[in-house]
Amino acid sequence: MSDLFLADLDKKFIWHPFTQMKGWAEEKPIIIKEGKGCFLKDTNGRWYLDAVSSLWVNIHGHRKKEIDDAIIAQLGSIAHSTLLGLSNEPAIKYAEKLIHLINKSFYGLKPNLSKVFYSDNGSTAVEVALKMAFQYWIHKGEKKKTSFLSLNNAYHGDTLGAVSVGGIEIFHDTFRPLLFKTFKAPAPFCYRCELKKERAACSFACLGEIEKIFKAYADEISAFIVEPLVQAAGGMLVWPEGYLKGVRELCDRYKVMLIADEVATGFGRTGKMFACEHESVAPDIICLSKGITNGYMPLAVTIATDEIYNAFLGEYSELKTFFHGHSYTGNPLACAAAIACLDIFEKENTVAELQPKIKLLEERLSEISELSCVGNVRNKGMISGIELVKDKKSKEPYPWEDKMGWKVADNARDKGVLMRPLGNVIVVMPPLSISVDNLNYLMDTTKKSIISVMA
Ligand SMILES: *Cc1c(COP(=O)(O)O)cnc(C)c1O
Repeated sequence: MSDLFLADLDKKFIWHPFTQMKGWAEEKPIIIKEGKGCFLKDTNGRWYLDAVSSLWVNIHGHRKKEIDDAIIAQLGSIAHSTLLGLSNEPAIKYAEKLIHLINKSFYGLKPNLSKVFYSDNGSTAVEVALKMAFQYWIHKGEKKKTSFLSLNNAYHGDTLGAVSVGGIEIFHDTFRPLLFKTFKAPAPFCYRCELKKERAACSFACLGEIEKIFKAYADEISAFIVEPLVQAAGGMLVWPEGYLKGVRELCDRYKVMLIADEVATGFGRTGKMFACEHESVAPDIICLSKGITNGYMPLAVTIATDEIYNAFLGEYSELKTFFHGHSYTGNPLACAAAIACLDIFEKENTVAELQPKIKLLEERLSEISELSCVGNVRNKGMISGIELVKDKKSKEPYPWEDKMGWKVADNARDKGVLMRPLGNVIVVMPPLSISVDNLNYLMDTTKKSIISVMA
């Protein structure tokens, strides 16, 4: 089909996510036809560098032979059967593999994550975590622990439970009347500290705020849900070192569970397999999705401890069952892709190979930070954000209506790089497998695009 014809059909039949369709109707959309490594090809035959890993899901690159083969091989057996009342081989094998990896990553730390609950995307993984934490306390006889604590600028997905623990006004405020009430704490984002402190002298005042909430309300709070180390959709807000450890200690002291939403940070993104490893913190529940199948198939897991799992055990008649599940839970094709994805981590030493590229990224970012319109650059591993500001000294942001981030992205697109900004924050988050040359090309283009938009 010709490109023009496809674009017309798209506009006629598709409603795109997070997209003002009035604007879309006036644009000439890029229609992707093919991928290879960290590049995408459109229907006109033009190649682009995939600078945001197809929305943060791709790790080892597109058309990765081992994963292609794993899915094809699984198709020869079965594409899907349910985990409700049945089991399947890829789901079993992947759960075992993943728990081994988790045990290795969190060696010697408590709590012990041990049971895998499957679903299909990050939002559902979060819903599962919230419902598990809530119901756990009911089984423990703590019937008042019905609420949650979450952070300002948090993003945990778009389903209503996930939105309830979210904190991005522009996305979430419309739905406020539909949401359950939660406690909110300031985000530990030092460049724009909500408490107006300087990191050098703040003694973690933001942890102090959490302690205040726990002191007054811990008997009402089942869990504190966080995106460890990087609040991604909130603008790639990178936490100061020590904050997560402080959170774990407070959760322990006040008997509140810690849910780590590692949907964006998991699978090597931050330079370790899981972000929590950076601070030797083990959560009570971890949510994983995005990178899990290398962006091939929708899959997510919520992993809980034996302590949580055991609280749900009882006679059938006691109704302690976890009444939750999805049609595609434990999908064999997706699990086959996930197994192959983990195998590549081992075979290619992905995390070790990543370290020099992270160093390069940091050098290139610090170069970009010198531009007059760049207020702050931040990264953790292969996740990075470049915040554009109207006034570097006062940190005055560009009005969001100016779409500065999009202007840079549109410019980069003309230069052959596909990006998706978060407001005024340029996101650089390529597949972990990106080559040094391509990473340099990506950073050159990013810098040039920022400069040409500002000129
Ligand atoms: C993307 C994301 C989600 C939601 O995942 P979906 O698969 O889009 O539902 C949840 N939490 C975090 C931290 C995310 O980045």
